[in-house]
Amino acid sequence: MENSVLAGDLRFEPAESFTRLIEKESSQPVSRCYQCKKCSAGCPVAPMADLHTNEVIRLVQLGDTERLLGSNRLWLCLSCKTCQARCPNGIDTSAVIDVLKGMVLKSGKAPAETRIPEFYKSFMDSVQRTGRLYELGMIGLYKLRTKTYMEDMGLGVEMLKRGKLKFLPERVKNLGQVREIFRKGREKK
Ligand code: SF4
Ligand code: SF4
Repeated sequence: MENSVLAGDLRFEPAESFTRLIEKESSQPVSRCYQCKKCSAGCPVAPMADLHTNEVIRLVQLGDTERLLGSNRLWLCLSCKTCQARCPNGIDTSAVIDVLKGMVLKSGKAPAETRIPEFYKSFMDSVQRTGRLYELGMIGLYKLRTKTYMEDMGLGVEMLKRGKLKFLPERVKNLGQVREIFRKGREKK
């Protein structure tokens, strides 16, 4: 039907309802954006990304889910919040991007950057187990998931030699509280 958009298995009709959904889920006033591009000027991942920061917001306004959900920008964003600090409307594009990433994962669509989601998962698995990051364990999980066993091996050995990587994990005292946060996160999904 004319003016309808599809995100995963969800159809939005008309396209403006997609913008409203993103605004609600991200708590960001996307419709206030007037394309001044101040956000894009300071984004550190702009040279690697296929969309500029302001373009992400414009495509949300237009309901162009195909370009949004297929963009590598979603996976490159560092959540550094430079865009929000520069935006005259206080729009945090990284919060919008987080919602879009969730849509990609729920839809079963392949992410535009395949290894980065595996890195996120490995990082979060490590934090869930011990309450803090255990780098060696996280690297092991990441390598198993991406089958990149030998990549960066020289760098890893060098870091071990210099004592930059700990052999054994350390647990935080209140591990139960950390696990509770993860449990609530799973419930919310
Ligand atoms: S939060 Fe993401 S989109 Fe915003 S400036 Fe940082 S890397 Fe770019
Ligand atoms: S800085 Fe804010 S208003 Fe300007 S283009 Fe970026 S999101 Fe839109």
